Amino acid sequence: MTVKHTLNDELMMGYAAGILPEAFNLVVATHLSLCDESRAGVESYEAVGGAVLEGSESEKLSPDAFADCLRRIKSDRPAAVKPAPAPVGVFPTPLQSYVGGDVGAVKWRALGGGVKQAILPTAKGATARLLYIPAGSAVPDHGHRGTELTLVLQGAFTDEVDRFGRGDIEIANEDLNHQPIAEMGADCICLAATDAPLRFNALLPRLLQPLFRI
Ligand code: ZN
Repeated sequence: MTVKHTLNDELMMGYAAGILPEAFNLVVATHLSLCDESRAGVESYEAVGGAVLEGSESEKLSPDAFADCLRRIKSDRPAAVKPAPAPVGVFPTPLQSYVGGDVGAVKWRALGGGVKQAILPTAKGATARLLYIPAGSAVPDHGHRGTELTLVLQGAFTDEVDRFGRGDIEIANEDLNHQPIAEMGADCICLAATDAPLRFNALLPRLLQPLFRI
């Protein structure tokens, strides 16, 4: 499948190095099940990591060695890697094991306006949640105090940045203020992770924030 919005280098490296918080790790792993391009990128970083480790044992590396290595690997990234595993439902395998099944197994909690969420159990440092946005509905507009990763699993949403469909990941940080609106046609289901509370612009969502841990 063609995914338009993929991981950035920082996230690919962090995932390959195994240093992301668990909630981010879950979003990235789920995205990788849907995106050949990001998967190829992560595999390149894993290869670089291995090469750097091997090199450092036998000889002293020049200060540019790592950058050189990255450039070399990036320039001959394979066009296509392993075929993606066959789709089983809405949730790719890494997510199914967290939820204990597909969409039907989720215990949703209403957030108001038809929007629902389910917080997934992960280690501290970042929070992972599933979001259910009815077709045509909006999430209250908000800014970000840290990083927010949003991966679309069903339907699509549009915000100030672009349109995001299944497999697309939006990486938002302090610079972005947005209001995701689910496209008409299908209800939108997303997997999101944040490492800091959001900054809501309206009073009501701000008041409800501690209750919903969003
Ligand atoms: Zn956001």
